[in-house]
Amino acid sequence: MKSAVRDLQGRRSFFRRLGAAAAGLGAASVLSDADLEGAVQNVNRSSQPSQLKITDLRVAVVTGAPFTCPIIRVDTNQGISGYGEVRDGASKTYALMLKSRLVGENPCNVDRVFRKIKQFGHHARQAGGVCGVEMACWDLAGKAFGVPVYQMLGGRFRDRVRLYADTTEVEDGHAQGRRLKERMDRGLTFLKVDFGVNLLHEKPGTLNVPAGAPARGGDMVMHPFTGLAITDKGVAYLSDFVAAIREEIGMEVPLASDHFGHIDVNSCIRLARAMEKHQLAWMEDMVPWQLPHLLRQIKEATETPILTGEDIYLKEDFAKLVDMQAVDMIHPDLASAGGILETKKIGDYAQEHGVAMAMHFAGTPVSFMANVNCAAATENFIALEHHSLEVPWWEDLVTGMPKPLVKAGHATVPDAPGLGVELNPDTVHAHLLAGEGYFEPTPQWDDERSWDRLWS
Ligand SMILES: [Mg+2]
Repeated sequence: MKSAVRDLQGRRSFFRRLGAAAAGLGAASVLSDADLEGAVQNVNRSSQPSQLKITDLRVAVVTGAPFTCPIIRVDTNQGISGYGEVRDGASKTYALMLKSRLVGENPCNVDRVFRKIKQFGHHARQAGGVCGVEMACWDLAGKAFGVPVYQMLGGRFRDRVRLYADTTEVEDGHAQGRRLKERMDRGLTFLKVDFGVNLLHEKPGTLNVPAGAPARGGDMVMHPFTGLAITDKGVAYLSDFVAAIREEIGMEVPLASDHFGHIDVNSCIRLARAMEKHQLAWMEDMVPWQLPHLLRQIKEATETPILTGEDIYLKEDFAKLVDMQAVDMIHPDLASAGGILETKKIGDYAQEHGVAMAMHFAGTPVSFMANVNCAAATENFIALEHHSLEVPWWEDLVTGMPKPLVKAGHATVPDAPGLGVELNPDTVHAHLLAGEGYFEPTPQWDDERSWDRLWS
């Protein structure tokens, strides 16, 4: 070997050793431009995450999706915006009242922002603002750092998220079963149907209604206080109804159920026992979640899985239900439960105690993608609700993902930064609630304040 060649090889190996040592020390000077390019190519160059600040919060209220859903946009000092959504049916005010607490915060500090505003959430729709802002902060953090939300939660357990869909109701069991079969023909692998006292109130001898009790159970009277009971004849009628459904769809496909009416706890037990032979995936919200002892009483009396959770805010009340062994499964709505990270924490807590998590959802694709990212990153996840299969323009509300978003009964987990979608302004404009604008300025919320501290 000529000496010049030996020299060159020696120098190359010296630089390789130097490069390896320098890389260990974090020195970049010996890395090539291509190496540096590769290291930073996923970072949004218009964004310096550590300097990102929230500057504005605006709203566009969409209706007919099928529900009314306020989509929120959180703007920043670096030209990127994040999207979130107040829970279906809730007031946009729940988000707007948070604006003055958010301006100036770095949205990448998602948990810090969440802890600052979580006192302004409560159960059910009242949590909608806090949860919508939390989604938008994750969207911004993901866009600033160039990663999908599920990645920031620890990565994913699945590439596709299984969906379940509710079904419009008819009074005949076989007709209802055929509607459910149509769902299966569209690719759904997990079904839900509502049945209960609504099918009985015109059928003589099926309900026991004390004088003065609300005949249909009453929306505002909790189950134990209506005095409404289902008779043996009523239980048999509902069992026949579900048997007819099973004849149409078979026994293999999971079939969940909800909305039985505000009936007493012993009626719940008798109905749940009658359903055992029909192998329901779960019976949902048989009594209010605030009455965990009654839920446990039902659960212990039947082999039909008992589930609740769509109106619970924060992990603490889920933990109580799990600790009491009051439910077989939990069912948070991410837009009520406390947002993406809190819902993952809820799922993880339940998993440690052998309890699976299904997810309630009834919003637009913005909140849907928050759910899909969370479901991808939560191991004990079972299925996510989809309430909009009959809304033809629903998927057109967003861009950035291959369509359809729902394929063969599953949602694809997005790989794009943040939630994975951007809004399609034309479709959002076309479905704004009457009197509502498209992310119009909100200076009226700049100075909203109170003495927020929770202890002295
Ligand atoms: Mg429900």
